[in-house]
Amino acid sequence: MTATPKIKFLDLKKINRLHSKAIGEAMQRVVASGWYILGNEVKAFEREYADYIGTRFCIGCGNGLEALTLILRALIQTGRLNEGDEIIVPANTYIASILAVSENGLKPVPVEPDLTTLQISPDAIRNAIDPKTKGVMIVHLYGRCAFSEDIEAICKDRGLLLIEDNAQAHGCLFKGRLTGSLSVAAGHSFYPGKNLGALGDGGAVTTDDPELADTIRALANYGSERKYHFRYKGMNSRLDELQAAILREKLPSLDEENSRRRKIARIYLSAIRNSYIRMPSNPDTDNNVFHIFPIFTPGRDSLRDFLAGNGIETLIHYPLPPHLQPCYKEWSGLHLPATEKIHAEELSLPISPVITEEEALEVADAVNRWVYNPAN
Ligand SMILES: *Cc1c(COP(=O)(O)O)cnc(C)c1O
Repeated sequence: MTATPKIKFLDLKKINRLHSKAIGEAMQRVVASGWYILGNEVKAFEREYADYIGTRFCIGCGNGLEALTLILRALIQTGRLNEGDEIIVPANTYIASILAVSENGLKPVPVEPDLTTLQISPDAIRNAIDPKTKGVMIVHLYGRCAFSEDIEAICKDRGLLLIEDNAQAHGCLFKGRLTGSLSVAAGHSFYPGKNLGALGDGGAVTTDDPELADTIRALANYGSERKYHFRYKGMNSRLDELQAAILREKLPSLDEENSRRRKIARIYLSAIRNSYIRMPSNPDTDNNVFHIFPIFTPGRDSLRDFLAGNGIETLIHYPLPPHLQPCYKEWSGLHLPATEKIHAEELSLPISPVITEEEALEVADAVNRWVYNPAN
């Protein structure tokens, strides 16, 4: 491993430098306002983000995990879910999607992905439905749309609530509509490394449902709709003014930054030719926002070391699937071969709005030079 990679996986300093003047001014504006929690910046960001996603409502909150947790809690408070109900979740996801379900006393049921899309498989959803199933959470993992008309039809036919985890897919499209507007409610994360990232934690829920929007807003503010009157046993999960002001400066550049990610993805897709490596199939480059660019090989760890030796930093998303984590020991007997294969073979190449075309070609060239020797 080299000490400092020549090509970093994600150079946040460089990404935010593109916005440093605007961010500085936004921060000064908040300092001068004297109002730091639930003020005009949050209100304005909520309006602008709802307009961007194409929903009636947006409610800022503390982070992506809490956005998902609040959605499910509000569905319980409004009588649409009950504790113990089963929610189908993708087995191949970041653990936060699943934690939000168990946190609310609901039962997550992990189902396998389709190995071509890497997203939750509609057939696997069909097979997992039983009388206790009340909802499906889809995750637009790696920035690629997980929604389909097939999944929508399954939910409609079986009376299941559909929820989106849009933490990795701000700006991703499905037939001209944005992910985050395709279900009863969607959770978004503005963790610094996401496509739309704050300079700290932040999150939001988008929805068209006024009752859900009001309930989530109250739940996120101690369960209070009116000062010192507590309708629910709520939590404190708020987007702060400073992060909202920063996000307002970055949101107008999101589409442009996503198109730079697409440009890098197209370079990888056309330039990488290595028989030991599988590329993402039908990656839907017009709609995908490439939060992650995943490639797959049984020699993943050897490829990772080889690239590191060439000054290229990579990551693994993710090394151990949720059903094999110690916190979900109830699933320790569960065998999910598609998910386990993805986790054993996945490697994420550098992708971001600040990777240059030359750097992408250098990455592709190094990947092409790697030779897999299973004996090593
Ligand atoms: C990042 C992420 C989350 C959680 O967001 P935080 O803001 O870090 O809490 C949830 N789901 C997925 C798929 C994510 O990638």
